[in-house]
Amino acid sequence: PELTQSILYLDGVSVSFDGFRALNSLSMVIGHGEMRAIIGPNGAGKTTMMDVITGKTRPDEGDVLFDGKVDLTALDEASIAELGIGRKFQKPTVFESHTVDDNILLAMKGPRSAGSSLFGWRNRVRDDEKDQVLETVGLKDHRRRLAADLSHGQKQWLEIGMLLAQDPKLLLVDEPVAGMTDAETEQTAELLAAIAKTHAVVVVEHDMHFVRALGCKVTCLHEGSVLAEGAIDQVSTNDRVVEVYLGR
Ligand code: ADP
Repeated sequence: PELTQSILYLDGVSVSFDGFRALNSLSMVIGHGEMRAIIGPNGAGKTTMMDVITGKTRPDEGDVLFDGKVDLTALDEASIAELGIGRKFQKPTVFESHTVDDNILLAMKGPRSAGSSLFGWRNRVRDDEKDQVLETVGLKDHRRRLAADLSHGQKQWLEIGMLLAQDPKLLLVDEPVAGMTDAETEQTAELLAAIAKTHAVVVVEHDMHFVRALGCKVTCLHEGSVLAEGAIDQVSTNDRVVEVYLGR
């Protein structure tokens, strides 16, 4: 996709730490409603790329545009989150002592109207949205449980639900299936594929079975730039990708 159809557009993005180039003229275009898997060896620049998109790290050079027009390099982290870019880090961070229901409600934007029946309708709308999110992440039957009592996989899904509750346009997900069982991994692939029907999603992941199950375009980073990009079969058989990453 071109700039005008992109949700995320990186062009010539470079980041150096003490002279070491973590990103080296990285260019990548992600289309509206696209899901993209990012793979690559440790130190390839995957985390730095996510940090640049979310405003945690400012690039030394290059353009980072959201929705074809918004210059993310000019914004701070809070403003970027406000635009509708949600990030999930590798470890689950949920409110352990709250119920699944309350975790989603706490994540939702806007004031929570309690008490007065005047606001009853608004609470019902919120409840409907919450139920919708729980349905999407497969936790509807667990809504009254404490987050602390969920499995590791369920906590990850809950946190993905908390991101969805903020109504993002773009979701950045960092190694979601690390530590999951095979069944949970499979369910996570289905869950993200369902979310990708209505959101753009970028997933950083090492588990190649999972990446295959996502069924999306794959970008392999190496030394801060794109080594290979395309369908999983193309990328996973690319000689350079095998050499620097898969053949480990
Ligand atoms: P990946 O996520 O693909 O493993 P990273 O983006 O974390 O790669 O790291 C890319 C390179 O940049 C690594 O060599 C790492 O050591 C270096 N790096 C990342 N962040 C910093 C930092 N804050 N200070 C110094 N070096 C860093």
